[in-house]
Amino acid sequence: MAHYDCLVIGAGFAGAVTAGELARRGNRRVLVLEKRDHVGGNAYDRLDASGILIHQYGPHIFHTSDRRVYDYLSQYTDWRDYRHEVVASVPAPGGRMELPVPFNLVSLETAFGPEKAGELAGKLIAAYGAEKKVTILELRSNPDPEIAALADYVYDHVFVRYTMKQWGQRPEEIDPNTTARVPVFLSRDCGYFQDPWQGMPLNGYTPIFERLLDHPNITVELGTDAARLLTLGDALLLDGEPFAGTVIFTGALDEFFGCRFGRLPYRTLDFRFETHAEDFYQSHATVNYTMDEDFTRITEFKRLTGQVLPGVTTVMKEYSRAYAGAEGEVPYYAIIAPENNALYARYAALAGRYPQLRLLGRLAEYKYYNMDAIVGRALALADELLGG
Ligand code: FAD
Ligand code: UDP
Repeated sequence: MAHYDCLVIGAGFAGAVTAGELARRGNRRVLVLEKRDHVGGNAYDRLDASGILIHQYGPHIFHTSDRRVYDYLSQYTDWRDYRHEVVASVPAPGGRMELPVPFNLVSLETAFGPEKAGELAGKLIAAYGAEKKVTILELRSNPDPEIAALADYVYDHVFVRYTMKQWGQRPEEIDPNTTARVPVFLSRDCGYFQDPWQGMPLNGYTPIFERLLDHPNITVELGTDAARLLTLGDALLLDGEPFAGTVIFTGALDEFFGCRFGRLPYRTLDFRFETHAEDFYQSHATVNYTMDEDFTRITEFKRLTGQVLPGVTTVMKEYSRAYAGAEGEVPYYAIIAPENNALYARYAALAGRYPQLRLLGRLAEYKYYNMDAIVGRALALADELLGG
């Protein structure tokens, strides 16, 4: 193994961007080990049996406010101009209604009609300012009885059951930054994100990873686990031989250390794909079920990707549950909470005994990062390792 300068565990955005940068900018020889049979991590997409481009591990929409990240990825893909809009499907008299999410001034009108909505909007804007974002927890602490009643409405219609399904806990019990991702927005803008750069990779995500990793200095081995990397005293062994180069680890840190302090808690997801013989199945790419059903949301891929294929469409329902570490289960969401962060800190301190070992990514850092944050962090790590 002496002929590799760096070892990268995992071929998601964290691993692929770091490997690509170390190879291209640093002329390092990089070995990438990925336990799945494909690259791309959770952003992996592929054609299903009906020829629909699906996201196998959940819907991925690119958005960023980081110019460097956008410019960097634009070297590896063209973009489809796409701005994500989400609605909550809720029971209503005589059927169902669709409320734009984040709950905004259009949602207010849909729920209460123009007159009442106008009054409430005036009050909200006087309290917080036009175009402002207010978290549901903040809104619920407002002493004004009318605003408090509205906050209860939004809490009941958008947050409480969805959060119970997704996390098994109520909104006030989970990390406040999580519900803050989807604030109440005092605007008529129905976009899910307000970042200046948003879109979908024109030909999907997987080709980005294939391009990132296509370099003579990079070797990718699929279907192989980090179990090939072991600790011995203060040394790291790869396939039984001491490995002195930099190791970038992007998997779950507790599993790397044999869960010796106990398992880090995660949520996992079950995805149910359905193919329907119709052009389109639903009104938006993502419809959240915030008051009923067992799944959290349904995503229709053609609406994300813009793929034109008449008479057929594939949708996906997401069911969340506790991760137990069983064979084939994927730890998708770290459960950010003080006791879990403290457990993570013990593993991170253990990892700190190996200065050549660097932790990067949503799993290895036990954080709720979007793709752009991971790409930004991978570029910053490459800068640091390459000294500039
Ligand atoms: P991952 O993509 O998880 O890649 C880690 C890789 O390491 C995987 O391929 C894994 O198989 C491999 N690996 C793990 N352990 C080992 C091991 N022991 N040995 C070998 N290989 C290993 N972000 C957005 O910006 N927009 C979105 O719309 C969005 N939607 C999401 C929807 C869902 C359901 C989820 C779960 C996440 C979503 N994200 C989204 C976040 C996005 O998936 C992550 O930011 C991104 O994938 C993080 O990249 P990563 O490389 O850290 O992790
Ligand atoms: N959320 C909610 N209702 C919604 C959308 C989001 O209660 O209709 C809450 C829920 O707790 C969720 C969090 O906001 O986990 C973050 O939502 P986001 O869409 O950012 O989650 P992700 O796409 O990362 O799963």
